[in-house]
Amino acid sequence: MLKGKTALVTGSTSGIGLGIAKGLARQGAHVVLNGFGDSQGPCAEVRAAAAQAGHDVRVEYHGADMSRPADIEDMMAFAARELGRVDILVNNAGIQHVANTEDFPVERWDSILAINLSSAFHTTRLALPAMKAANWGRIINVASVHGLVASAQKAAYVAAKHGVVGLTKVVALETATTGVTCNAICPGWVLTPLVQKQVDAKAAAQGISIEAATRQLLGEKEPSMQFTTPEELAELAVFFCSSAANNVRGVAWNMDGGWMAQ
Ligand code: NAD
Repeated sequence: MLKGKTALVTGSTSGIGLGIAKGLARQGAHVVLNGFGDSQGPCAEVRAAAAQAGHDVRVEYHGADMSRPADIEDMMAFAARELGRVDILVNNAGIQHVANTEDFPVERWDSILAINLSSAFHTTRLALPAMKAANWGRIINVASVHGLVASAQKAAYVAAKHGVVGLTKVVALETATTGVTCNAICPGWVLTPLVQKQVDAKAAAQGISIEAATRQLLGEKEPSMQFTTPEELAELAVFFCSSAANNVRGVAWNMDGGWMAQ
C-alpha cells in the first residue's frame, strides 16, 4: 500500500516508534529511523519486516537529538537528500519523568517539553513545504491519553502531550484543503522501556513484585487490564496513511483499553 513512499519516524530505535517503522516498511515504505542507542539492530529489524512482506526497502538512520533544533534540521535535510522527500512523518520520540510539580526538576521540564512537543513543531514545519508541493502527506503525532486527560506527577508530560494534540489540530486545519493530513494517536499503557521504568519504580517503592506492580498499574487506568502493543499502534498508523483516511483530519485517536471511556 505504501510502496515507493518514504517515512521518517522519530524515536524509532525502541518501543512504539520501532513498531510503527516496521509496520510502514511492511507496507513497502522506505524509512529513516532516529533515536538513541543501537541503530544497527533496529535497522535490521525494519529491513527484515519489509522483506517478510516481500518488499525491498531502504532503511536509513540519523541520530539527531530531538531536543536540538539544529540536529532536527540536519535530520530533515538528510532524509530529503537520501530518500528524495518525506511523505510520512511520525513524531514519536518522547521521554517521561514522574514527580510532584513542586519537586519537578526544571531541566527535566525543559527537556520533556523540547523532546515531546517542540521537536514535533520543528519536524512538521520542515516537512510541510514538500508535502504541500506534492499534495500528499501524512503527519502522525504519537501523543498519549495524557494528551486528553491528566495523571498526577506528570506535569511536563501531560502539558507536552496536550500541546501535541493542539498542534495536531492546528496543522490539520492549515492543510484541510490539501492531500496532507495530520492526526494524533493516543495510546494508553504500552509495555516499552518507558513504561517498564514506571513499573519497576512502583515495585521498588512498595516492595512488591514486578507482576503485582504491573497489575496495579493497569488496574488503576485500563479496564481491559491489557497493554496495547506497538504492532496494534502500527496498524493504526498504517490506516492513517491509507486512502480510507484521506479525510480523517485533526483527530486524537485513543487506543487505550477503555481508559478514556471512564
Ligand atoms: P521508548 O523509551 O521505548 O522509546 C523512546 C524512543 O525515543 C527511543 O528510540 C529513544 O532513543 C528515543 N529518544 C528519546 N529521547 C530522544 C531524543 N532526545 N532524541 C531522539 N530520540 C530520542 O518509549 P515508547 O514507550 O516507545 O514511547 C514512544 C512515544 O510513545 C513517546 O512519545 C511516548 O510519550 C508515547 N507513549 C508511550 C506510551 C507507553 O505506554 N509506552 C503511552 C502513550 C504514549
